[in-house]
Amino acid sequence: MSVSWYVRLFKFLIVFAVVGGIAGGVYLWRNHADAAPSRISYTAFVDKVSAGEIVRVRLEGDSITAEAKGGGSFQLYRPSDADLSKLLLDRHVEFTSTPAEAKIRWFELGFILVLLVPLVFIMKRMAVFGRSKAKRIDGARTNTLFTDVAGAEEAKGELMETVDFLKDPFRFSRLGGKMPTGVLLVGPPGTGKTLLARAVAGEAGVPFFSMSGSEFVEMYVGVGASRVRDLFAQAKKAAPCIIFIDELDAVGRRRDSGGNGASDERDQTLNQLLVEMDGFTVTSGIVVIAATNRPEVLDPALLRPGRFDRQVVVGSPDIKGREEILKVHARNVPLAPDVDLHLVARGTPGFSGADLANVVNEAAILAARANKPLVEMTDLDMARDKVMMGVEKKSMVLSEKSKLSTAYHEAGHVMVARLVPGCDPVHKVSIVPRGRALGVTVQIPEEDIHCYTKEMLVAHIKVLMGGRAAEELVFSTTTTGAGNDLARATDVARKMVSEWGMSEAFGPVAFGHQDPASGEGGRKSFSDATAVEIDTEIRSIVTGAYSEVRDLLLAHMDSLKLLVSELLTHETLGSSEIDELLQPAFALEAQSPHYAKP
Ligand code: ADP
Ligand code: ZN
Repeated sequence: MSVSWYVRLFKFLIVFAVVGGIAGGVYLWRNHADAAPSRISYTAFVDKVSAGEIVRVRLEGDSITAEAKGGGSFQLYRPSDADLSKLLLDRHVEFTSTPAEAKIRWFELGFILVLLVPLVFIMKRMAVFGRSKAKRIDGARTNTLFTDVAGAEEAKGELMETVDFLKDPFRFSRLGGKMPTGVLLVGPPGTGKTLLARAVAGEAGVPFFSMSGSEFVEMYVGVGASRVRDLFAQAKKAAPCIIFIDELDAVGRRRDSGGNGASDERDQTLNQLLVEMDGFTVTSGIVVIAATNRPEVLDPALLRPGRFDRQVVVGSPDIKGREEILKVHARNVPLAPDVDLHLVARGTPGFSGADLANVVNEAAILAARANKPLVEMTDLDMARDKVMMGVEKKSMVLSEKSKLSTAYHEAGHVMVARLVPGCDPVHKVSIVPRGRALGVTVQIPEEDIHCYTKEMLVAHIKVLMGGRAAEELVFSTTTTGAGNDLARATDVARKMVSEWGMSEAFGPVAFGHQDPASGEGGRKSFSDATAVEIDTEIRSIVTGAYSEVRDLLLAHMDSLKLLVSELLTHETLGSSEIDELLQPAFALEAQSPHYAKP
């Protein structure tokens, strides 16, 4: 239980005590007031009436209240005396008679109050719990613009459409455009996902509601769901607008069957979110932008059409992106002429946008502490070292050496993909670390592999081996960086032999699927001897591919080195940049005397 819960409990107890005190006080006071008229005997009363001392009498059931001439009053019980009325009339005493009235029972009333007031209080509290904590910031006050987000050009391009839509939802729907209701920003922490969402609101001039997934999941069952409901209700009133949900994975994790209390609560919240998103019409004018670092754990229901069906990747910035981010944050910092932000960008591989903002901020603080009028390069260097320590802890920052071997590794993949016929074109290559991967060569989606020919599969294996081959050729050692490549290559080779009947030794025979990793995977339909043969066959495919790739890379060493140096300077290269670089390089190599055609 959180501290704030205890504070609430404490407040509640105080209110409880105060209300109880008041009720008790009222009770005592009433009792005191009731005791005010003096009690007299019936005989004395009749005597007083006869003596003309009584002016007014009130008969309530069997209770008599009498007012005396000189002030003061008496109270007594009325015996069954039929002559009383006559006596009063005779003496001209003004009297009223009412049937016995249920006397207000102050004690009971106080008791009920004591119970009721805290109950109302608790219910009010619950309602406050339920009401979303979404902070509403008016569009006018969200003055973040796309110019404040540096480097994320692709993401900005994709979000531009969302801005257009929010500016005029009706025009959009009139033209039959599909409304972008849900956008999922995917990327590591600190890469500017929140900033981007804010900028979309700023560019469109619409209100921005923001909430974190972890806030939805609180202690009372049903609270998360009611928060979601309130958030969307608030947003509907302010449409067109943006709802931003940070850490979507906190609430949107895959629903599991046998749940405990906590996951029940999350499921309810998630269900409510799905219901709300399905309730959007084309003209709702609400765009939900969510952010996550782990799209793979999300419940598939969230990613269906009409929900978060659009994913925008917000990656770690490359060297150019980092320089731009530094520039954005240095806008309001007076820089000395010796400051070279490009150099700072080069020295900060693996830094996120948030880390870079931190570097500039720290540098400004350091300079101010030293009473410098301007921030100098030494300040930025020191700030970088300071921030670096934190960055190294949470992600992998490449040392110069591992950056070089990563560059060779990725360049090896690219070279093979370019040189071996039947390979899918390389879309992009990057040595910016992403999660646990040091670099990445984006090529073919793995799902499509089933419809490939044998030649294409071998080409695919070769591309996978290219990374390790390049590393080995240049450094004469191997690193663990290629582990995943080798596993994938071996997997493809295994399927070629045992499932797709593509091996020369066996011919078109499919063996029962044997999966040693999972321990199950169906019956083994071959003998142990065959298993050995299968392994031999797999090995020969993989090692054969490997040695061919080595020879290939050796023959194109000049191009490989050129690609590596370009990768080191730019960190990320697109397909056209790779073409522009490699086509002339290959042509040059073809003319050189030591070039051996593979
Ligand atoms: P995320 O939501 O991805 O975790 P944030 O949007 O909260 O990241 O980023 C935190 C801060 O880092 C931002 O407020 C901004 O100062 C800085 N930042 C991150 N990415 C960028 C970027 N691309 N351009 C400029 N500043 C950035
Ligand atoms: Zn690789």
